[in-house]
Amino acid sequence: MFRPAATTPDDPSSPSPCGNGDIMTDPSHQTVDVAVVGAGLAGLTAADQLHQAGYDVVVLEGRDRVGGRIHTTEIAGVSVEAGATWIAPGHTAVRELAARLGREFIPQFHTGKGVISFGGKRRVESLTAMAPWTLLDLTRVTNALQKLADSLPMSAAWEHPRARDYDAMSLGEWLTSKRALKGTRSFLGMVCMVHWGAPVGDVSLFNVIRYIRTLGGLEHMLAVEGGDQQDRVLGTTLTLVTGLAESLGHRIRLGAPVERMTTTEDRVRVETSDSTIEARYVITTASPAHRSSIQFTPALPEPHYGLARSWRLGALSKAFVAYDRPFWRDAGLSGEGVSDDETVFLTFDVSPSADGPGILMVFCDARGFDGFDRDERSRRVIRHLMHLYGDDARRIIDYTDFSWGNDTFAPGGPNPAVAPKAWTTFGPFLREPVGRLHWAGSETADEYSGTMNGAILSGQRAASEVAARLGAASE
Ligand SMILES: Cc1cc2nc3c(=O)[nH]c(=O)nc-3n(C[C@H](O)[C@H](O)[C@H](O)COP(=O)(O)OP(=O)(O)OC[C@H]3O[C@@H](n4cnc5c(N)ncnc54)[C@H](O)[C@@H]3O)c2cc1C
Repeated sequence: MFRPAATTPDDPSSPSPCGNGDIMTDPSHQTVDVAVVGAGLAGLTAADQLHQAGYDVVVLEGRDRVGGRIHTTEIAGVSVEAGATWIAPGHTAVRELAARLGREFIPQFHTGKGVISFGGKRRVESLTAMAPWTLLDLTRVTNALQKLADSLPMSAAWEHPRARDYDAMSLGEWLTSKRALKGTRSFLGMVCMVHWGAPVGDVSLFNVIRYIRTLGGLEHMLAVEGGDQQDRVLGTTLTLVTGLAESLGHRIRLGAPVERMTTTEDRVRVETSDSTIEARYVITTASPAHRSSIQFTPALPEPHYGLARSWRLGALSKAFVAYDRPFWRDAGLSGEGVSDDETVFLTFDVSPSADGPGILMVFCDARGFDGFDRDERSRRVIRHLMHLYGDDARRIIDYTDFSWGNDTFAPGGPNPAVAPKAWTTFGPFLREPVGRLHWAGSETADEYSGTMNGAILSGQRAASEVAARLGAASE
């Protein structure tokens, strides 16, 4: 696990390109230009940009690791992605960061046929193997959904004249109004689970179509080649985060949950359990729901608390199962599986090579997974992999899993499962500064919101906002 070179801010051996933020005698009390809350991709990007511009920054991270929703775990000696995994062709901010850090991409394995299993019936060849009437219905309904998404403007989507109508119902209610067939509901249930970690009845239709809009369309979201699942980072996405973190070094403090922020006339006092930071500005990158664990004085305007109350994160879990070799490839299967099983709903082949180990990344529905002990979780996963890929799926060499909903700090992911009416009521305040407090994080991005690319763009935007204010103040 990465740890910054020095966690005490007064390490004399550290480079000191900035001002007094580096010259510290009391690590429990520090004065900086900008305090950044959260060492995910948004926070590290914002801090890096400000640091490069010569400002004193400190990054306060509640966890004992950097990365936030980017996190790796290990199976059969291979590092795999518990969180963010794929990079789409249009994720230019991620691609620029990777180029700067000298990281390479590998394509997601996508050769062969997929497997689809709805209602316990297994068919090979994914979508085209659906019953013709289901396929027709799925096309009808997804076209209607795409049409709604296309009608929204990219930024300030909530200003669309029908935004409140769309936000008044859940995706599930909309599917009912469209008389969607069971297979269509199951398929869109899988899409809902993988993007918001919640069933179709929990997520506002507006949230869904706005997300489809920012990601470039439903077809793009579902595609491997040319779509959202096209590439992975060689050596995992965490290397992007650690690359950024290394250049910030001792400016990152881990295990430092921010508990209180008090704004005075010319600064903000940011407090953790054992330190106080005096900052001219603060950028908070915690997901909206996690902002509620911070006590703000003076109190934030009501819509900001509404955001924290109603933008709860969904819960998604991943299991990884390793075999000697990716045996499913011998049968001409790609390892891509879609299912409406109560535990397993999606699988991908993330094997490092055809020689092995063979590794399946398995997306699991938290409701049929998180509450069980490890033995039962692995039993459920392997049983369903045998259904999808045959008896060879029994011969595992390793197993591991990760539940975002059970994380001890800042739990939940991948994205907020925004309930009906909560988007148009509170969403417009996502990144609205409150005095010296600015906001970033993937949720606040207009483009590629909910992705690593969105996180980087949001960090850049917030850093520019704050730099402009610092620059104006010094003139
Ligand atoms: C299972 C899963 C799969 C995903 N797949 C993909 C994918 O394939 N492609 C893709 O592009 N994206 C994917 N994502 C989404 C992507 O990971 C996120 O959009 C992105 O990493 C968010 O970055 P962020 O910096 O905005 O937020 P985060 O990474 O959540 O960072 C916020 C940080 O703030 C910290 N924090 C919270 N409260 C406090 C506090 N009070 N004090 C101090 N620190 C605090 C948190 O610990 C966290 O580290 C996935 C996410 C998950 C969970």
